[in-house]
Amino acid sequence: MNARAEAEPALCARELYRFYRSGDEEVFALRGVSLTVDAGETVAVVGPSGSGKSTLLACLAGLDEPSGGEVRLRGHRLSHRSEWERTRLRAQHVGVLLQSGNLLPHLSVRDNIRLPQHGVPGRPALCADELLDLVGLSERGHALARQLSGGQLARAGLAVALANSPAVILADEPTGELDSTTEQSVLALLTAQAQAGKAVIIVTHSSRAVRRADRVITLADGIATAGRDETARQAS
Ligand code: ADP
Ligand code: MG
Repeated sequence: MNARAEAEPALCARELYRFYRSGDEEVFALRGVSLTVDAGETVAVVGPSGSGKSTLLACLAGLDEPSGGEVRLRGHRLSHRSEWERTRLRAQHVGVLLQSGNLLPHLSVRDNIRLPQHGVPGRPALCADELLDLVGLSERGHALARQLSGGQLARAGLAVALANSPAVILADEPTGELDSTTEQSVLALLTAQAQAGKAVIIVTHSSRAVRRADRVITLADGIATAGRDETARQAS
């Protein structure tokens, strides 16, 4: 990586807008969200259901295109490019853990990990077996997604997200369905990634995840504010 790219933040979003039109109605999911996340940081994104968290994450990952504004990864513009270019940039720089899961159902966990490693030049930093070991699934590499428990599925999804040693890790409610022991282990794996120099963004409702984060961003009606959502915390 050249020195200029090194000096850029891992992830920078500027004035993101996203609106959806259905018939005569317009829904503003994001209204001018800006955020910068540096390597080594864990940022939690919180906010009520429908506040725009998943939309924000999809725009940061280049899975969705913002209606306005832009996302940069290490200075490379991700937004307003062809789908092919966004896919290439995502494969190189981003690991995504979606609410819907990121494992293809007909492939084993090991093959799900290998799949993204095929598209990127050079040897992966960690091979599939090392990643399985990292997330505590060395015995389950041959299993299909439907043969895993919820906690195993979350850890397998994390191994897939880490397959290409991405600089940026984006997770949408990764611990939403987990018991507290499994939640702790997934959060520990994610924050260890930040300590290893990645930028980690976690959309979450979990107070544990919020406590572990270096910073918290609260979304309300598509608008972001820095800091913890005191009203939500007091109410819960
Ligand atoms: P959150 O993840 O915080 O629950 P979302 O980002 O999923 O919120 O949604 C934000 C807003 O955008 C909601 O009002 C939702 O109904 C709307 N929305 C999300 N996706 C679509 C879509 N594909 N079409 C229309 N409206 C959408
Ligand atoms: Mg959501």
